[in-house]
Amino acid sequence: MQYSVTPIGHVRSCFKEKFAIPRQPALAPAARGVLELLPPFDRPEAVAGLEGVSHVWLLFLFHQALESQPRLRVRPPRLGGNRYLGVFATRATHRPNGIGQSVVRLDGLEPGRLLLSGIDLLDGTPVLDIKPYVPYADSPPGAHNAIAEAPPPALAVSWADAARVQAEAHGQRLGEPLAELIEQCLAQDPRPAYQTPTPERRYGVRLWDVEVHWHYPTATSIQVLDVTAAV
Ligand code: SAM
Repeated sequence: MQYSVTPIGHVRSCFKEKFAIPRQPALAPAARGVLELLPPFDRPEAVAGLEGVSHVWLLFLFHQALESQPRLRVRPPRLGGNRYLGVFATRATHRPNGIGQSVVRLDGLEPGRLLLSGIDLLDGTPVLDIKPYVPYADSPPGAHNAIAEAPPPALAVSWADAARVQAEAHGQRLGEPLAELIEQCLAQDPRPAYQTPTPERRYGVRLWDVEVHWHYPTATSIQVLDVTAAV
C-alpha cells in the first residue's frame, strides 16, 4: 500500500547548502529561518494557539537526500564515519521515506509564516507537519542514548581581524546574528571526519548571501579567514 503526503509549507533558511549545517537543531541558536505556509494552512485558524508555545516539532522531507534504494545500515559522522549502525539507530538523512524531525524555537508568528531559530534545515526544505513541543511528554526523565549522550565537543573558533569586521558588517546589513551563526556552525567542525585538514587547506560555505572561508591552524581549532558577498 502506498500513501502520499503533501507539504504544508517550505523553510527559508540561512543554510543554502548541506555542508556546515549542524547535525541537530539547537546546536546553532543563531541559525534562523522562516516556515512559509501554503494554502489553506497559511490562514490564522491553522496556527491559533501557537502563541503560547516556545518550541515546535517540524516533520519534514530530506528533499536533497531522497533515494530509491533504502539503506539498512549507515555510517553516522558521530562515529567518525567509519562504523556502521542500523539506519533506525540513527538520525541519518538517508532513510526510508526520507522523513526528518527537528525541535526548533518558535520566535514569532506572522500571517502565513512561523519565525524559527536553532534550525538544522536546508533552504527549501518541504515541511509535512508542525506539532507543539510538549515538555512533560517529549523529554522523559531518565531518557538516554549511548551513542549520542551529549553534544559533540565544540572546536575553538578564532577570527582573522578583517573577517570579524566583514561578518559584523554583513550581519548588520542582513539584520541577522551572522558572526554568532558562523562561530556556532564552525564550532561543530563541518569537515568530513575522514579528512585530516592541513593548515593550507581552505574550506568554504554559503550562509545567507555570504561566502565564509576558514582553515584549521591545528586539528582542533578553526580560524575564519574571510566573509564576502556570494557571487
Ligand atoms: N534533526 C533532524 C532529524 O533528526 O531528523 C535532522 C538530522 S540530520 C543528521 C541533519 C543534517 O541534515 C544536516 O546536517 C543537513 O546537512 C541535512 N539536511 C537538512 N535539511 C536537509 C534537506 N532538506 N535535505 C537533505 N539534507 C538535509
